[in-house]
Amino acid sequence: MSKVEPVDVLIIGAGASGAAVAWSLAETRMRIVCLEQGDWVNSSDYPANYRDWETRQMGDFGINPNRRANFADYPINEDESPIKVANFNGVGGGTILYAGHFPRVHPSDFRVRTLDGVADDWPIGYSTLEPYFAVNDRMMGVAALAGDPAYPPKEAVMPPLPLGKTGTVLGRGMNKLGWHWWAADSAIATEDYEGRAKCINLGHCIAGCAQGAKASTDITYWQEAMRARVEVRTRCRVREITTNADGMASGVIYYDAEGKECHQPAEIVIVACNGIGTPRLLLNSASSRFPNGLANSSGLVGRNLMLHPYGSITGFFDEPMDGYRGPHIGTWSQQFYETDRSRGFVRGYTYQFVRGAGPVYAALMGMTALRIPWGHEHHRAMRRVFDHTAGMVSICEDLPEEHNTVTIDPVLKDAHGIPAPKIRYAISENSRKMLDFSLARGTEILKAAGAYDVATAAPMPHAGWHLMGTARMGTDPERSVVNEWGRSHDVKNLFIVDGSIFVTSAGVNPTATIQALALYIADNIKQRLANLFD
Ligand SMILES: Cc1cc2nc3c(=O)[nH]c(=O)nc-3n(C[C@H](O)[C@H](O)[C@H](O)COP(=O)(O)OP(=O)(O)OC[C@H]3O[C@@H](n4cnc5c(N)ncnc54)[C@H](O)[C@@H]3O)c2cc1C
Ligand code: SF4
Repeated sequence: MSKVEPVDVLIIGAGASGAAVAWSLAETRMRIVCLEQGDWVNSSDYPANYRDWETRQMGDFGINPNRRANFADYPINEDESPIKVANFNGVGGGTILYAGHFPRVHPSDFRVRTLDGVADDWPIGYSTLEPYFAVNDRMMGVAALAGDPAYPPKEAVMPPLPLGKTGTVLGRGMNKLGWHWWAADSAIATEDYEGRAKCINLGHCIAGCAQGAKASTDITYWQEAMRARVEVRTRCRVREITTNADGMASGVIYYDAEGKECHQPAEIVIVACNGIGTPRLLLNSASSRFPNGLANSSGLVGRNLMLHPYGSITGFFDEPMDGYRGPHIGTWSQQFYETDRSRGFVRGYTYQFVRGAGPVYAALMGMTALRIPWGHEHHRAMRRVFDHTAGMVSICEDLPEEHNTVTIDPVLKDAHGIPAPKIRYAISENSRKMLDFSLARGTEILKAAGAYDVATAAPMPHAGWHLMGTARMGTDPERSVVNEWGRSHDVKNLFIVDGSIFVTSAGVNPTATIQALALYIADNIKQRLANLFD
């Protein structure tokens, strides 16, 4: 095995959280290396540059790693989950493919045990993260409209995305019902910003933004971190974290770009592999001293997997909408975010109002929903469906349940022979009731907006893009994996900064919170460096 020169800080994973923690720690001038199993993505390779942009969203830029099966992907056994995983493995991680929808969690999300008697409170509150949300908004470049009554006051870095036809029509429907809606916070530049060109509303965001308007971390945090001499080593897949005789992390074993096995010694190890990659790595790092996996004395590594079940509500309109022209999501509603027990469930959800699909997706969707038949009616039906839909998805708070797990599959392995993860996930009764409620209210909204017909579906089967809870934070080592500032209770120089440390999932997309947490943990590491391992 090749031995590599030791480093002060080793970060595993170059996605949303790995980038933020690297940037923040760079000012310490410590020797920092990030190992990433994937590669840099060249923006000229993005499907947006080619005519087959939509079909490539089902191929090499697809969202499901099992179907995409690129060299950087590892297989995931998801046979026992109705919701399939979506991710991206490469510099930027999930932010390469994400929609850039960038809400913050609410203050109530940190106190669900106190407020609603379910799950657990977080060991920190909204005010702890507030300054880090603000730094992150500036680093990512967040377009927003200040004054949203659903949130504590916050500043907008730049003007919001335009409403477009879809936003205007759906907003009118919401006004008729008197329900909350607002311009969504989006990590999409509406002005030229920090070397990034502004959004030109082409609408290919989910397959990567060739314009550079969407804030993926390869073009935000990583550019600054590398200027501050952080090294990113790509095509390097970590197999396990090693420990020394004192039970401290001593580094990692990884396979480099040529497939050679290497040992990278490090003083501090930071895991940023997401809610599935992180428990996989910790469980694969079992040793005689840590037989149940590293940092797992609580037995909670891999438990409490939360995925955010999604409902989809699509309206069919007589008039043309603005279809796929522009970012997918421009407005949201948090009318049903906080608990109201008369609805029959606790906690709540956000509606993300979405534009219609491009021509290929519209055709596929229309055919599977039997709205576009073959034969002489085909063209007429296609004209009626394409560019004539708008609607919303409901993103439902998923409460932690220990039987929803990431474990190591006994058979499945990745290209390097490293055991692959298996997920087991079931939708709870609370989530099912919340989904049904959201479909019914969403139908009312679309009818109020003028839709002549509405189609609903829940859960959306391929919407497992929020991966949370599998190495939760807390003050009690028996009930949590990391402490209130992200350090493993068991291994004092091991930190986790990705979505796996969430205690509860909230009813919003997680990336703004994941990155705020990573910045907060980095600050704690800096402040406590002198006596970090006491
Ligand atoms: C299609 C899609 C749409 C989305 N839309 C939104 C949205 O609108 N808003 C939002 O907030 N979120 C969205 N998300 C989710 C968002 O991308 C994630 O929340 C975010 O990227 C998670 O950050 P992370 O740091 O936890 O992990 P990731 O960004 O997933 O990064 C983990 C990195 O670790 C690397 N890695 C894993 N294991 C190893 C290993 N053993 N060795 C080396 N490297 C390893 C991976 O290759 C990856 O690059 C979306 C995701 C997808 C896929
Ligand atoms: S719509 Fe805007 S953010 Fe989306 S891909 Fe086009 S330029 Fe990028």
